[in-house]
Amino acid sequence: MNWAAAYYDGVTARSRAVTIQVTDSGLLLALDDGTTRWWDASGLRIASRRPVVRLEHGVEAVVLRDASILAALPPTGARTAAYRATGFVLSLMAVLFLLYLKGLPALARAGAAAVPPSWEVALGEAIYKEMVAPESVCTDETGNAEIARLAAHLAAALPESPYEYRVAVIREPSFNAFALPGGALIVHSGLLEKTGSPEQLAGVLAHEMQHVELRHATRAVLRDASFRLLLTAVVTGGAEIPAAAKAVGSLGVLRYRRQDEEEADTAGLRLMEAARLDASAMIEIYRVMEQESFQPPKGFDPLLTHPNLPERIDRLTNLIRPDPVRERYETTAPWSRTARMCRE
Ligand SMILES: [Zn+2]
Repeated sequence: MNWAAAYYDGVTARSRAVTIQVTDSGLLLALDDGTTRWWDASGLRIASRRPVVRLEHGVEAVVLRDASILAALPPTGARTAAYRATGFVLSLMAVLFLLYLKGLPALARAGAAAVPPSWEVALGEAIYKEMVAPESVCTDETGNAEIARLAAHLAAALPESPYEYRVAVIREPSFNAFALPGGALIVHSGLLEKTGSPEQLAGVLAHEMQHVELRHATRAVLRDASFRLLLTAVVTGGAEIPAAAKAVGSLGVLRYRRQDEEEADTAGLRLMEAARLDASAMIEIYRVMEQESFQPPKGFDPLLTHPNLPERIDRLTNLIRPDPVRERYETTAPWSRTARMCRE
């Protein structure tokens, strides 16, 4: 018998349609792109039984409403043990949450480091769905391909990353960009249009990627009560996710600390250099930002919450290496076209 479900690869936030075939020794997953995945019964975990069934295998997961699949799953002793282990991790997380509530910042840091990337991805996906209206995402193929290539160029210079970065450009006139836990980067068209080169956008992306790498976004989530509820809902796979996500969407503004911004600036600059891009472009785009009138940002607001841009620009100017190896970044289309992709 077959079951239809949503498949998550544990790396990207995207869900894909999958058909599950249950056999005696495991599950055969047929994905919507024609590829298949084999889940051996020994590695299978039941992470949730209701209100939705969530089955996991390594970092991958499938989610479906039809609980009849549970009775059909192949019997395996390992499954019970793995389930217990998941339960243990969940109680450990619950204890950590209690500790955060008591305001122990050192433990909060350890807690963010203890959150598995797959949970960060699920959390980022829940926030993305709530904050980004699908119709606001710019669909210009050439522009999106160009920006995806630029993000991949930067990501390739990261030492080792558990995240897969995706950029969504949304039709929003304000000058802003932000990162969600797990690797979703959102760029407002108002910022993109002000960039004069791919390197200037790369400067923004590098800063945002480092917020993800350094887990600033996840840490900020753990500091904020409404986001914390959402994380708990995501982790337990409960029906509370939509409600918790709504609470976050209407109230939530993640505040990074000044120290987070400085770290993301420094690490972002180094990432630009590692990618052999002209790191001074990062300073150029901050200068453009300085000219922008301040608009209270919505949602995540890494760039604009920080009023002391002149100070940040000074810091970066001092940090930049004097004789870096730079290579001209070649684009396939003129940058002015990509910058205006939301008008296409
Ligand atoms: Zn920032």
